[in-house]
Amino acid sequence: MNAEIIAVGSELLLGQIVNTNAKFLSQQLAEIGINVYHHTVVGDNPDRLRSVLEIAESRSNLIIFTGGLGPTKDDLTKETIANHLGKKLVLDEYALTSIENYFKKTNRLMTDNNRKQALILEGSLVLQNDHGMAPGMLLSTDTHSYMLLPGPPKEMEPMFLQYGQAALLGKLDSNEQIFSRVLRFFGIGEATLETEIEDLIDEQKNPTIAPLASDGEVTLRLTAKHSLPDVASSLIDEVEKKIFDRVGDYFYGYDQTSLMEELFKKLQQLDLTLACAESLTGGMFQQQFTHFPGAGNILKGGVVCYTNEVKEKVLKVSKVTIAKQGVVSEACASELAENVRELLDADVGISFTGVAGPGELEGKPVGTVYIGVSIKGKTKVEKFIFGGSREQNRIRAVKHGSHLLLK
Ligand code: ATP
Ligand code: MG
Repeated sequence: MNAEIIAVGSELLLGQIVNTNAKFLSQQLAEIGINVYHHTVVGDNPDRLRSVLEIAESRSNLIIFTGGLGPTKDDLTKETIANHLGKKLVLDEYALTSIENYFKKTNRLMTDNNRKQALILEGSLVLQNDHGMAPGMLLSTDTHSYMLLPGPPKEMEPMFLQYGQAALLGKLDSNEQIFSRVLRFFGIGEATLETEIEDLIDEQKNPTIAPLASDGEVTLRLTAKHSLPDVASSLIDEVEKKIFDRVGDYFYGYDQTSLMEELFKKLQQLDLTLACAESLTGGMFQQQFTHFPGAGNILKGGVVCYTNEVKEKVLKVSKVTIAKQGVVSEACASELAENVRELLDADVGISFTGVAGPGELEGKPVGTVYIGVSIKGKTKVEKFIFGGSREQNRIRAVKHGSHLLLK
């Protein structure tokens, strides 16, 4: 089954909102093994909607629409599809009752055009809307399936997860189910990782291997189809093993985890405390670390040592280091990590010093970053040259810092 997503709404074309519905649906469809080959955005205009619908029909067999199911005049998705397919719009009693109840509950007056929202395409399966009024629907013909979902993400996303996905899975072969596992890698580029396992990607049919890169990380999604969960899981295990044989050194975790979460779990397990000296990251590392409940048992605290004065006065970086090597230096990172660990009486100290940009500092290029790690008296420093934007450099520094502590 190959799918196409059509987002309907002039506000998307005017740049007033971002098409997050397509992003969400694409991710969800990938998860259940449905290929999405096209995204289209079209305004609230029946002629243009019809023409993109015709194009979609020529190349996809599942077409998912979002938006335009509301009560107002510009909401035309249902009407246009009904017209195109020669289907009637019929009143769905259940949808009407839930709309009436919604009005009673919110003490508002229901108008005639709200009844319009209870109209569904004749013969379609209704997808209940638990967070709004317009029901979604799935209509199948001999050649195509059409899924209609409301525009507001807070209605569309739960509707798809609760009812839409199951309705689509019902269309998969026999009683097969989809299982997927995400492997997360850090410290290896997407191109390198893909080259390392190119033959596996090409020859794999079940499970399939889908790479994705973002924010300096690469993930591989392994998706298997089978009627028995245990079999699917062992099919995934087999491929995972082959992947680990080649690039296992860069693997750091499964599914929704992050480098920071893995670091948090590791320090928790080892019962170690942490102290941070953050210059260019300005507290970002600690901000992310404190996301996890229980962080207070590990993170003692830290110093945002943004100026040279604070580095020198609070964290006792030596005058000689600052004068001779500068604050963007191995020596400074080392002293910061060691001294913050001692100052806060922690097991582990980590420090970040560098040039976030846009301008260079101490004659060192933008993106030069030193990260120091001091563990029970032993201190190591790594130098990086990221060369991205100011924000990218800061984000990468935090990620590499977590990764260094994980190793
Ligand atoms: P309503 O009943 O609210 O009118 P609807 O199904 O008719 O819902 P639209 O009128 O097209 O949907 O969009 C309503 C709102 O939903 C938009 O103003 C926007 O905030 C959000 N929205 C619509 N489409 C998208 C999209 N593709 N991505 C993200 N948000 C969207
Ligand atoms: Mg609307």
